[in-house]
Amino acid sequence: MNRAVFLDRDGVINYDDHYVYKIEDIRFIEGIFELLIYLQNKGYLLIIITNQAGIGRGYYTEQEFKTLTNWMLGKFKQQGIHLQKVYYCPYHPNCGIGQYKRDSFYRKPNPGMILLAKREWDIDLSKSLLIGDKETDIEAGINAGIPLNILFRPGVMDGHTKADLVINDLNQIIASGILEYQK
Ligand SMILES: [Mg+2]
Repeated sequence: MNRAVFLDRDGVINYDDHYVYKIEDIRFIEGIFELLIYLQNKGYLLIIITNQAGIGRGYYTEQEFKTLTNWMLGKFKQQGIHLQKVYYCPYHPNCGIGQYKRDSFYRKPNPGMILLAKREWDIDLSKSLLIGDKETDIEAGINAGIPLNILFRPGVMDGHTKADLVINDLNQIIASGILEYQK
């Protein structure tokens, strides 16, 4: 079986600049390339799980999302980083338009995207981890049975979190040595 790191996209890979979908609006977060190389070298599969209700809300299309995704995967490839797959959920229970207005087992904090990836990539979730910037990411990881859920919160930490580790700089994952304990 494989182990994997599940990464939220907006707020972890790139800055969450409110429903970004244009290539020119993407700003990568400092340390993300180094982190992904580190995780890849440690043998983790790299998987993005992202709620994309902007599609359901009609802010951008699935095709525009996929165009951006392909560009992003190419940027990673240039750095020698291989992303296994990008899972996304376009639905929103209240604000979705037409077919997109519905609740979904794949929408975080539900664990659907993680459980689907587990099946598709033969992943041992007990040896995997998740990195997110919202509590709903952390809850998705917990709901899926992931034992290490890391909250990346660059600003002031507000409120309670169920995360196992809170960081304000992606480099802290490497510096903390926390992954040395995952066998
Ligand atoms: Mg996010």
